[in-house]
Amino acid sequence: MVEKYFTLSEIQSDLKQGRISCSVLVNEYLKNIKDRNQELNVFLEVFEEEVQQKAKEIDTKISKGNAGKLAGLVIGIKDILCYKNHKCSAGSKILEGFESQFTATAIQRLIDEDVIIIGRQNCDEFGMGSTNENSAYNACKNASDTQKVAGGSSGGSAVAVQANMCHLSIGSDTGGSVRLPAGYCGVVGFKPSYGRISRWGLIAYASSFDCIGTLAKSSQDTALVLEIMAGSDDNDSTVSGLEVPKYSENLEILTGKKFKIAYYQESLKEGLNPEVEAAFKLKINQLQTQGHEVTAVDFPLIKALLPTYYVLTTAEVSSNLNRFDGIKYGHRSSNATDLISHYKKTRSEALGFEAQKRIMLGTFVLSANYYDAYYTKAQRVRRLLKEHTNQLFNDYDFIISPTSANTAPSLGVKSDNPIAMYLTDLFTVQANVVGCTAIAIPNGKDTKNMPIGFQIMANTFEEEKLLAFANYIEQLPNYEQNH
Ligand code: GLN
Repeated sequence: MVEKYFTLSEIQSDLKQGRISCSVLVNEYLKNIKDRNQELNVFLEVFEEEVQQKAKEIDTKISKGNAGKLAGLVIGIKDILCYKNHKCSAGSKILEGFESQFTATAIQRLIDEDVIIIGRQNCDEFGMGSTNENSAYNACKNASDTQKVAGGSSGGSAVAVQANMCHLSIGSDTGGSVRLPAGYCGVVGFKPSYGRISRWGLIAYASSFDCIGTLAKSSQDTALVLEIMAGSDDNDSTVSGLEVPKYSENLEILTGKKFKIAYYQESLKEGLNPEVEAAFKLKINQLQTQGHEVTAVDFPLIKALLPTYYVLTTAEVSSNLNRFDGIKYGHRSSNATDLISHYKKTRSEALGFEAQKRIMLGTFVLSANYYDAYYTKAQRVRRLLKEHTNQLFNDYDFIISPTSANTAPSLGVKSDNPIAMYLTDLFTVQANVVGCTAIAIPNGKDTKNMPIGFQIMANTFEEEKLLAFANYIEQLPNYEQNH
């Protein structure tokens, strides 16, 4: 029954006319969770009693006419976002038993508008991964085919929307963690520009890359939730003070406008799945038929994207994860004999393989003898990448690509091959390296019924234009309707 709702405005119109209530809605989502959570492993915790109570309160507010803008919206949050008096483990054993003492700014703003938070969603440990297989609480599975991965790191958040366990999810995106699982699961994954949404209460992975993002069914809901979460925050000095436009009211502002769109020649060369390529080319043709100018351009620095991303994020993660030492909270080894063995045993026992590997890599690139060769160099290349991307945005409105070169891989395949896993991030990391905004929208399905993703990037703080364009593309027919 909740499957039929594509946008929150449809839910709200039914609420208004008394065709449904928040209590009924919440019970429907809970039913979907109960039916499939065991198999899909999406939610690490469901706040069952709490949401039933909350739903009643909001139903009362609706009847009195004083409900907030998000009344009727049931969301899930990635297990990396702090929510006061609720557990938060960042998909890691090291935070076992930890409860947040405050709520992330972005989440608080949603709560203030009467959102209902149904539970905490599975993810890769501290957001490190592309398949959700690096979660200490086991992999989350794709609802289109349970032999396939959900994508990562916000895998639970994507599948929750795909399988109608909530209407929208809040995730985080450091190198594609919202967009990649969105692409694999056929939902809309949005990453704002760096500094558009406060990171206060988002457990840090790589602080100069991390962004809170959304997984939704439509660009319309994405726009509404963004406009509520965005904007300055005294608790995060990296948030921009730029005014927050009414994104959700401006989705039609570009109607009739013709755009200049670029895609990378290089992106169609190696390793692209033929069906993903066909769907991408079809989209290009559609856009051209509609009068937009779509041009293949060179981006010679494309090969520098992943190395730059992985040198800098491992450096940042090695520093950010220092705080998990078992002294103040989380897992504490019971086998320690002195302080040093306490640190070593606690961290070795409770951090997963990928986290330990990246801490070691990051410590190495930051070590005195190698700092300039790796860290300083990667910072310089990051600046070059930013300059080149800015130049492209001087000439083009958008840069498009597939969200990933392939549809969701089978469970177990990528975790055995780390390089192959890092390569899945090829199209998504650029937006994080340069700090611009990007969205992944569904681009139909392949012959095996697996979702295909389409990514659009726009210049920093051009979310308004990006969301309006994504909303327009959503109306165009998709690949499966044509093959
Ligand atoms: N897959 C990328 C990584 O492992 C991106 C993760 C993310 O965006 N949090 O770093």
